[in-house]
Amino acid sequence: MRKLSKIDLSGKVDNLLAVKVLVTGGAGYIGSACVEELIGHGHEVVVLDNLCEGHRDAVHPGASFELLDLSDRQGVDRCLAKHGPEAVIHFAAHALVGESMTNPSKYFTNNTATALGLLDATVAAGIRKFVFSSTCATYGVPERVPMDESLPQNPINPYGESKLMFEKILLWYQKIHGLEPVIFRYFNAAGATENYGEHHRVESHLIPNILKCALGQSDGCRIFGTDYDTPDGTCVRDYIHIVDLADAHIRALEPRISGAFNLGNGDGYSVRQVIDTCRKVTGHNIKATEEPRRPGDPPTLVASAEKARNELGWTPRFPDLESIVSSAWSWHQRHPLGYSE
Ligand code: UDP
Repeated sequence: MRKLSKIDLSGKVDNLLAVKVLVTGGAGYIGSACVEELIGHGHEVVVLDNLCEGHRDAVHPGASFELLDLSDRQGVDRCLAKHGPEAVIHFAAHALVGESMTNPSKYFTNNTATALGLLDATVAAGIRKFVFSSTCATYGVPERVPMDESLPQNPINPYGESKLMFEKILLWYQKIHGLEPVIFRYFNAAGATENYGEHHRVESHLIPNILKCALGQSDGCRIFGTDYDTPDGTCVRDYIHIVDLADAHIRALEPRISGAFNLGNGDGYSVRQVIDTCRKVTGHNIKATEEPRRPGDPPTLVASAEKARNELGWTPRFPDLESIVSSAWSWHQRHPLGYSE
């Protein structure tokens, strides 16, 4: 480890050492933004990605790149031996609630079983810091909002369950192997940086699908469910900028930080409010059609991120939805077809 100097970080990250980090899924949406932030803060990054969801053009030019599938345990062992990282940040996963309700095996296989292989390789390599991308979907339908980390975790879809199973494995490995796990339960990741944005080959997320209409790539967007017990009948979510998510990961690398943290802004927006915000930001009159509920969706998910604020010194820099959508809109305008294939 090298000591970082002349790095102006706010909050608690002032004595951070430069760390060599393996980032799985570093060619994906949140992973690419995190890699950019890590490199910007002087860390050394190795991206491991099979490019099934990620994109080669989303790999930061300052990172080393290993094209590898995590199910290739020998390949993972070789990669760890070759690069000798001091920490692992594990983004690589499938993350679609709807798909997990029709193909649960894909989620348990990749998000739980394959991740366990990575974890075993990490432990075998003597690495203690393991930062895991979990989700608010592990809570299921919350007993109360805003949601803090003490709420019971009862997922209502296989995606959330696959992540919760791995959270539990991490806690056992902490007890038994002395692992230092940091579990981040993301609320709804959104927005873009100058260079990296959201491009899924099959897009199911709300904001990019609305922006596709503004780009003239579809006729209208869809509202899944208008009969929820929420102020306007549509689902309420807490949208958090990927740059703010990335910032939390930098803080997670500090020595002695471990545990589970919710990452969200604490503000809930309904699907209708998101569509209205996109109309305002883009200046396009986006058509919306009302459709039945999507299976697996809880009505309201809004974070209390007090623990992350207190223990990590984390404060979201882009909390308002309009600036989040604006950043996504400018990225999509510059990359109307996403990354090149
Ligand atoms: N949603 C919607 N239309 C879409 C995509 C999503 O109404 O085209 C709703 C979805 O049912 C959920 C919210 O928007 O209530 C956010 O969904 P998204 O897939 O973006 O993220 P998730 O909450 O599933 O992680």
